[in-house]
Amino acid sequence: MKRKELANMTDKVLKRYLLWLPSVLMVCAIGTSFINQHLFSKSLIASVITSIEDQYIAIRKTEVEERVDTTLKMLDVIRQSNDLADGDVIPKALFDKTMTSFQLLNEGYDDYIFVIDSNKRFVVHRNSDNLFKNDIDDELVHYIYQSAINGVSWVEYSDKAFNNRKSDAAAQKITHIRYVEDWDVVLGSGELLNDIKKYSESEAKIVTNLVLEQKSNQNLFHIFVFIIFAGIIYYLRTITAKKLYQYKSAIEEKLIQIEEKDKEIAFRSLYNDVTGLPNRKATSDYIDNLCLQEKGEEYQLQLIDIVDFQKVNNQYGFAVGDRVLRQVSSALEDLKDEMMFIGHVSADQFVVICQKSTGSCIDFEKQTETFEKFDVCGEMISLHVRNAVVSFKNRNILGSIIVRNGELAMKYAKANNLFNVSYSPFMSKSSERHFKISNLLDFAIDNKEFYVHYQPQVSTLNGKIIGVEALVRWDNVELGRVAPLDFIPIAEKKGVIGKISDLVLAQACKDIQSISPNGEDALTLSVNISPNQLMSKGFVDSTIEIIQSTGIDSKRIVFEITEGTFLNDIPGTIAVIEQLKAIGIKFSIDDFGTGYSSLSYLSKLPVDEVKIDKSFINDLVEDKDAYNLVKSILAVASIKQLTIVAEGVETKEQSQILADLACHLLQGYYFSRPVDVENLTKKIRDNLRAK
Ligand code: C2E
Ligand code: CA
Ligand code: CA
Repeated sequence: MKRKELANMTDKVLKRYLLWLPSVLMVCAIGTSFINQHLFSKSLIASVITSIEDQYIAIRKTEVEERVDTTLKMLDVIRQSNDLADGDVIPKALFDKTMTSFQLLNEGYDDYIFVIDSNKRFVVHRNSDNLFKNDIDDELVHYIYQSAINGVSWVEYSDKAFNNRKSDAAAQKITHIRYVEDWDVVLGSGELLNDIKKYSESEAKIVTNLVLEQKSNQNLFHIFVFIIFAGIIYYLRTITAKKLYQYKSAIEEKLIQIEEKDKEIAFRSLYNDVTGLPNRKATSDYIDNLCLQEKGEEYQLQLIDIVDFQKVNNQYGFAVGDRVLRQVSSALEDLKDEMMFIGHVSADQFVVICQKSTGSCIDFEKQTETFEKFDVCGEMISLHVRNAVVSFKNRNILGSIIVRNGELAMKYAKANNLFNVSYSPFMSKSSERHFKISNLLDFAIDNKEFYVHYQPQVSTLNGKIIGVEALVRWDNVELGRVAPLDFIPIAEKKGVIGKISDLVLAQACKDIQSISPNGEDALTLSVNISPNQLMSKGFVDSTIEIIQSTGIDSKRIVFEITEGTFLNDIPGTIAVIEQLKAIGIKFSIDDFGTGYSSLSYLSKLPVDEVKIDKSFINDLVEDKDAYNLVKSILAVASIKQLTIVAEGVETKEQSQILADLACHLLQGYYFSRPVDVENLTKKIRDNLRAK
């Protein structure tokens, strides 16, 4: 995710979900609460009024009814107390007297009764002005009277004339009426509805206010809850926002780191870690770019390899090695002009690309001072370099192929111990061969294509063959004879050297034991042990097993190891050597003098023999230094009571000098090339005969 996307997303979440959404919800909640309150209060008042009215009217009706009933009972009592039976005519005096006394009931109370006689006149009325009058609202009196005769008990009307309350000009009334047969009157009583309405409205207001108060308290409570709720939401929002911003900045930081890492990776993918110079890929990209420019220009790629750089690493450690590489890099940068490209294509290989016409290419053969004066742990050393040059024109060619050609030429130079080579297509062939060897090795092992030749070792004392060195040979249908130096390093890399060595050891033990059985003068057998093999798991056990199975006396066996074998792990090497020495096997340092600190190993390792490298023997006659070195090796060896073997003895002269220097054993073409077991048998027979 990009940083911008992250920022947008965070803002969106904060605004949309954490601010707008809760805010809208809150407004809705409070709004609904107000609307609810308003609607509720209106409908509440209306319903309360109706219900109070209904109830009140009902109550008042009962009161009115009771009043009328009581009056009726009173009339009955009066009639009976005057000894009048049902249906008797009420005497006028009694009638008038009774009505007068009833009129008194209307005084001072809100309640009232009225009586209408058969002449439709009020004989009892709350308003005494209306008594015995024929001219007041005839129609209404008639209506009431007639309704009562017809058995109607409730009438509702509004009157003017009967009303003594000026304010209620047209008061609405409910009236209960009864026709009293004995007295021939209509008895009635009623209530003003205006009263009722007023009353119920005021009652309703009280009730509604009470309810509304409760309701608004409830609403207040709701609002209070909403506010708390809103508060919580905003609090949570603040916390979440804070957290979100924290996460955002943490993620942002991570994204920045990732961006930086990406940049670093991009940088690393194009630049060497140690020197910061363009790497192999960047170099081939550079050439690709050159090929996009104007065509026909001639360029030169020069691959520079530091000889034995591995040894600097091994001896002083990688940190020092890296420092040296940086010094080499800046030495090259010093030589650089603007038309030149400098790259660092692999551990100890640099590249210089220049345009031939500018004449800026470096001739490292002459420019020797470039690789001098490197500070290695305070020691000023000069490094040797190998150069492989590839010339090319910038037309339709791939950078990676040019670099690869440089590397092939370098391989060729190394294999042939050359220091300055120019690439030629035949060099690709040698790499093809390398590839084929690697592919064919496994099959060759299974197909038993390996066999052993033996080179005699002769004593300087009496010229007698006292031992042989076993040397592996490989003949392949496709590749022909493959030299050990060509396939052994590949077998080591592939991890199959153990299998080959076991074959060689088994074959050699069997052959030598058969032509020279164990005994006092029996031949010694020297076998080369590969660096990787010595330290491999199970080496000791398999070696012992092979030797024992062939029956050869293990005291006759010498294992030749080169310095590289034990450089990395001296204590481990010593442990393995000791185990094999315990059964009588002897150890020899092969190619002695070519390594870094051969002499120092002599004191560290429990070896029995030293084999002086053939390069010294080769120079022995002409080179005083070589002579002196051989002499000093012999001196040290004699102090340590080691057997000294000189290998690569090709001439009588060399043989003589070595004999004079008291070298013990000689080996070389002068005496015999490595031969098969039949020829070896002959040689030994001839040698014995000559003595
Ligand atoms: P090395 O152990 O130094 O063996 C001696 C090499 O020098 C042999 O080469 C031998 O043929 C050659 N040589 C002998 N006398 C002379 C001479 O007078 N002049 C010259 N110029 N060369 C001479 P080869 O057989 O080609 O072996 C090369 C290397 O391969 C050996 O060097 C050894 O390191 C390795 N090697 C050979 N056989 C085996 C083996 O069975 N196992 C292992 N691990 N390495 C082997
Ligand atoms: Ca050897
Ligand atoms: Ca050797």
